[in-house]
Formats: sequence, C-alpha cells, structure tokens
Amino acid sequence: MQGNLPTRAIMNGQVALELIEGDITTQATDAIVNAANSSLLGGGGVDGAIHRAAGPDLLRETRQLGGCQTGDAKMTRGHKLPARYVIHAVGPIYQYADPGVATLLASAYRRSLELATEYQLNSIAFPSISTGAYGYPLAEAASVALRTVIEYGREHARPALIRFVLFNQSILQEYQQVLLGFLQKNWVDPA
Ligand code: ADP
Repeated sequence: MQGNLPTRAIMNGQVALELIEGDITTQATDAIVNAANSSLLGGGGVDGAIHRAAGPDLLRETRQLGGCQTGDAKMTRGHKLPARYVIHAVGPIYQYADPGVATLLASAYRRSLELATEYQLNSIAFPSISTGAYGYPLAEAASVALRTVIEYGREHARPALIRFVLFNQSILQEYQQVLLGFLQKNWVDPA
C-alpha cells in the first residue's frame, strides 16, 4: 500500500525532490530550514530542537539579525549541526478563510530557496513549516509547499537536492499523497 506512494521526483531533469521521515537536526545537507517565529529567538517544536542541537552560539547569532518578517527567511551558520547553514524561515499562523496565509507560506519556502541559490548551496532540507504550533492544515500546507518547491526547481539548477524531512509517518504520507497527485498531472517527473 505504502509502496505505491512516491518518495522521489525530478524537476527539469536535474533537481531532485525527496520526501523522508526523520529528524531534521540530523541532516547533513548544506542547509536545513528552521520553522522559526519572527523573533528568531527560538521556540518550541522544530525550532527548539534545532537550537538545542546547534548549541548556544546559534542564539547568539540569531540575536544579531533583528527578527524576520512572516514569509521571509534569514540564514545563519549551523554551529554544532551537521548542516553548514540554518535558514530560518517564518511561516504564517494559520487563519481559516484567509487567502493570505497560502501566499505567506509559499513565500517562506521560496525565500529559503532563493537564499540557497544565492549562496550556491547544493542541498537543502525543509520541515513541514506552519503545520505544528502554527496550525496550518497538513494537506493544504503540503500542497503549497510542494507546489512552491517544484515551481522553483523547474527554474533553478541549484539547490540540486530539495529534501523534506517529515517528523512522522502520517506527515510523510500526506506529502506523498500530494506528490502523487503532481506526478499524475505531469507537473514533475518520476525519479
Ligand atoms: P510551526 O510553528 O511552523 O507550526 P512546529 O515546529 O510547531 O512549527 O511544527 C512544524 C513541523 O515540524 C511539524 O510537522 C512538527 O511535527 C515538525 N517537527 C518537530 N520537530 C521536528 C524535527 N526535529 N525534525 C523535523 N520536523 C520536526
């Protein structure tokens, strides 16, 4: 059953999209993305896990950044993490029936990818932004996230690997269902 759901796809013949279950703090991609809040001073969920794994120098660095607007992203070094950089992206707090949230969520993904391109990074790992404490419904968020990275991957050679690291099996399956739909529409190629 689960074997029928995809875990990989290719954009533009050269950019790989991967979906895996795991803990993003263990990822050795060039950058990992943090689902940060606009203070950039740490928090719960994936943000707390990243700060714990990176050590206190990460907070020293984010303190210098003056916060970050919703829909934007800022980069720091990875400190004790296996990843060289952390891209702190601020997704929206979900509001029912507010069409602006999808634009802001897409922007958080896109700005992260733009930073990765600007710094010539080859690989980036994303968590499922806004779907924990920020309450964004998972299926809708997965659709926005994958649509945005696929659009980006079709237009840019770098980063050449875009990986989603989903925290449990049910989140992974939600993303896989959305990817299956995009593969069926030939929006993205099978890998
Ligand atoms: P937000 O405030 O943007 O909603 P959260 O951290 O509360 O951010 O949740 C975002 C997603 O990150 C959720 O799907 C949550 O299960 C997941 N998550 C929490 N810890 C980790 C981790 N260590 N690695 C990957 N994903 C994680």
